[in-house]
Amino acid sequence: MAETLEDIGEFGLISRIAKTVYTSSNLALDFRDDAALWQQGSGWLIATTDAVVEDVDFRLNTFSWEDIGWKALAVNLSDIAAMGGTPRGAFVTLCLPATCETAAVSAFYRGMSLLAEETDTPILGGDLSASAQLVANVAVIGEVESSERVLKRKAAQVGDQIAVTGVLGSAAAGLALLERGDSGDTPHGARFMAAQRRPAPRLREGRALVDMGVRCGMDVSDGLSADLKKLCLASDVAAELKLGSIPTDASLGTVFGDSFRERAIGGGEDFELLFTAPPAVMNTVEAWLSSNSLAPCTVIGAIVPGPHGAVVVRDVHGRVVPVSNEGFDHFGTAAAPLSGN
Ligand SMILES: [Mg+2]
Repeated sequence: MAETLEDIGEFGLISRIAKTVYTSSNLALDFRDDAALWQQGSGWLIATTDAVVEDVDFRLNTFSWEDIGWKALAVNLSDIAAMGGTPRGAFVTLCLPATCETAAVSAFYRGMSLLAEETDTPILGGDLSASAQLVANVAVIGEVESSERVLKRKAAQVGDQIAVTGVLGSAAAGLALLERGDSGDTPHGARFMAAQRRPAPRLREGRALVDMGVRCGMDVSDGLSADLKKLCLASDVAAELKLGSIPTDASLGTVFGDSFRERAIGGGEDFELLFTAPPAVMNTVEAWLSSNSLAPCTVIGAIVPGPHGAVVVRDVHGRVVPVSNEGFDHFGTAAAPLSGN
């Protein structure tokens, strides 16, 4: 039988494409980082692109058109934040059925513009096309100061502490509530749904991390365990996480029960920053974030020697907790739609 995308998965496909395409020797990172980084004149540019697709990334009965516009831009800005960069402009391609109401399209751009204005990301252009289902693709160009002052996946060192901004699991909880038709009329229900529909890219936090001397990081889009595995693979190291340290919303247990921390580790789309740094740098970062009204960060584990890419989670007694680190693969056989980006 002919090989299909299911057989090799999204990341296998990326490796194949990387070997096939014409590319530039100016590229400072490979295709597996959160954004491309290259030198242009005396400056360093970054760029990323990401699509959101109806019934894969959202459903029209649980997302408003404003939400879809917001999220389509937010997932891209999160990749700019994941490099410690500053967005400079976005291009938006919208594919949709001709039967679509014009008011819906206006709402899409209204939602997107709210976040564009908040993050000073001008919409520079784009394209429109007809399609059976709604697809919104966004590309964002940004800037970093230099190829050194940037967050890379391959810079983790044994002895580094591992930290995340904000809380984990809220977007997964929001998705679970939306999928079960919850009305969202409790304060925590509304918080979780907002985390799923209108994630806040950590742009200011990403830049602060770079300023404080952090050099290794990425955003959490596919789930902490899966994304940390990618970071460890890129850096040729292993990681240990402390289950009890995983920061979550105080009400996460109302959605996920006693295993809420395991769900927080596995759940995708939080768009928080995951980063590593030596303890001295981490102390400065923790103090700086909390004293400057930015999202706080929490130390959740350490980079350790071990099999490359291995992520071990331990409970308070030191016992290993089984956690899936498969994450979301758009073409994997286990790919449940609506669970990753
Ligand atoms: Mg990313």
